[in-house]
Amino acid sequence: MIQPDTSAEEGGQTPAEPDFSRLLEHLPGFAYQRRNDTIWSAEYLSGPFQELTGLPAEFLLHKGHAAYINLIHPDDREKTIHGMRHALEQGGDYSLEYRINLPDRGERWFADHGCGVYDDQGQLQRLTGFVSDITQRKQGDRELERSEDRFRQLLEASRDAISVIDLDGRLLDANRAAPLLFGCADRDSFLKLHPAELSPDDQPDGRPSRVAAAAAIAEAYRQGSLEFPWQHKRLDSGETFETIVGMHRIDLDGKPALLVRVSDVSEQLRYQQRLRQLAFEDPLTGLPNRQAALEWLEQQLQRTDGNPLLILSIDIDNFQWLNNTFGREQCDGLLVTLANALRAQSGSAGLAARLQSDEFLVIIRLKPSETGGNPAQEQERQVGQVLAALQATLAATPGLPTVMSFCIGSTLHSSGPVAGQHLTDAEDLLQQANTALSAARRAGANQQAIYEPGMKVGIERRLAMESRLAQAIAGREFTIHYQPIVARDGRVVAAEGLMRWPQPDGAWVPPSTFIPLAERSGRIRALGQWLIDSACAQLAEWRGKGLELGHLSINISPTQLGNSDDPLQQQLLRAIERHRLPADMLQLEITESAVLENIALARQELESLAAAGFRLALDDFGTGYSSLLTLQKLPFDALKIDKSFVQKAERDDKSRGLVESCVSIAQKLDLDCVAEGVESELQCLLLRGMGCDFYQGYLFDRPLPATELERHLRGRP
Ligand code: C2E
Ligand code: CA
Ligand code: CA
Repeated sequence: MIQPDTSAEEGGQTPAEPDFSRLLEHLPGFAYQRRNDTIWSAEYLSGPFQELTGLPAEFLLHKGHAAYINLIHPDDREKTIHGMRHALEQGGDYSLEYRINLPDRGERWFADHGCGVYDDQGQLQRLTGFVSDITQRKQGDRELERSEDRFRQLLEASRDAISVIDLDGRLLDANRAAPLLFGCADRDSFLKLHPAELSPDDQPDGRPSRVAAAAAIAEAYRQGSLEFPWQHKRLDSGETFETIVGMHRIDLDGKPALLVRVSDVSEQLRYQQRLRQLAFEDPLTGLPNRQAALEWLEQQLQRTDGNPLLILSIDIDNFQWLNNTFGREQCDGLLVTLANALRAQSGSAGLAARLQSDEFLVIIRLKPSETGGNPAQEQERQVGQVLAALQATLAATPGLPTVMSFCIGSTLHSSGPVAGQHLTDAEDLLQQANTALSAARRAGANQQAIYEPGMKVGIERRLAMESRLAQAIAGREFTIHYQPIVARDGRVVAAEGLMRWPQPDGAWVPPSTFIPLAERSGRIRALGQWLIDSACAQLAEWRGKGLELGHLSINISPTQLGNSDDPLQQQLLRAIERHRLPADMLQLEITESAVLENIALARQELESLAAAGFRLALDDFGTGYSSLLTLQKLPFDALKIDKSFVQKAERDDKSRGLVESCVSIAQKLDLDCVAEGVESELQCLLLRGMGCDFYQGYLFDRPLPATELERHLRGRP
């Protein structure tokens, strides 16, 4: 301790004053005393002075006030001196905060509390005070201010409406976007609203909005947070719009409240609906396309009402000739007319679809009684009826070519086991109808044929192919080609591995042929396992050579998911362990429809894959039915826009809007956005403009053998 210089007062018989000096040693700050001489010299400094300032006591002790004042930050000096002087003149205490520049420690914040000591005449004798270091608190304050500021800015910048409500649903605060979104004049009038005014009376599922909102608030409060779709209403126009609402419980000055975020997703939903139409509807006739027909038929096959299904494959004879003779426009009109007739024929329980240019499919649901007697006869009768309807339509429509005939192949599917009929999936039924159609065509124009097992052409070919596939898997006859994925600056940042099945004659069987076959014959797991291991081996080799590839994307077939014996995740973990790869160098591409097939199961498995570190990409985005809410909840890292949309974007505005919406969905969900099938500069330019950052397609490269991709990675063309 630095002894106070008290000699001036000693000698008197004043009663012993309490001595705080020992106590002062332990306080996190230093005490001082100054004498009112001309220089206000320091008489006393408690021990922690040195600790706090890094200066020896001699620096100040018996020195004038200026030595200390000089340490104070120039900007704070004036107010410090003034504050102190003012307090002393008034005979009061002072409490000051200032920055101080210490030779060894740089800038610190000090708090200085002191008071004057006066004699009987009221003359100021000394100054005593206590100084503590408040730097940490000051920084904390600043941090807090800054983070509050940042938070406020974030809220204000958000395009989503963000508000705070109490547990009765009353609005307490809102950001700038909130009144805009709800068509309200300004924030003040918005805050005066009751939230019930911002929703229609009922939600689309029929629940009264008030009841549903109260339930959601209670639930959000109970769980801590909640997210749900909600229909809102604009105040100015009364128009309703679709939103996703997120609620989070917060503490507002000690009271519970909810932070509510409302994102307007109506535009995305509209686009999604259009996407859906594009993917599943034939644009010319409005009939479902092949994919949609297959899905519908698959669903019907799972129904167990026992009603037989009649499947007709219909082909217009010499359509090419008609097209050339009557012109494209008139033939398009013809297709639309025929489509309408077929739609009427299929009835409400059946389906009409357009498979390709002049090929239609009609599925008719029969009553069991209709086939009870002689099924073949009934089948013939039904086919005859459809044919008659087509002819009648032609006759009744003026301006159509009269010289027209049709070939029809049909097959009957009776549910329940039928002798000799072991294949009953939708694809098989279509194949049967098609086999019958081929038989009809072979017989000439205007022919009908009924499928019979003897006609096994198509199916036999498939069985032969299946056995070749089994051999090829056992013999590891496959290879992988790698297609670069490039960033905006043209750098190859990743690649997609695509399987190839080379044939002895040098041709390739395309994956679109052998993957579905492997899936249907249960061989996809073995094939997938081979792919995972080979891809990892290749990746490890490149890594060993120091070649940069952010990640390698591989395709996962839906049948590889949901296997409890040897889960996909175990296969993947084994492979990355064997080849010493970090999990995030592998990206798994899963198609939208695969994810949606069994969302509950897929979600669990995907979450676990993501937790293990694998990247996940949603493949062929735009071709499935996923809702934004579903997507938001799945742990994807990237979204790949289907090539059909990318390619159409160049040609028409509508498709361009759709791709734009895919990009904006990716941005909204904070996913990497990869456009597939980029073939032209124009497509690439459009995608760039929309904010899509990654591209894959023939414009950059076709899928390449490993050695060629390697050359790329080395930077040599
Ligand atoms: P995908 O995953 O959508 O793969 C992209 C397909 O688009 C590839 O066809 C690729 O060659 C092709 N492509 C790439 N750029 C362009 C372009 O600019 N224009 C056009 N027109 N096409 C382009 P590929 O290799 O024939 O593969 C077809 C599909 O087979 C793949 O579609 C994927 O679904 C499946 N597939 C391929 N390899 C595997 C595999 O190892 N496992 C599984 N489960 N499926 C695979
Ligand atoms: Ca893919
Ligand atoms: Ca794809």
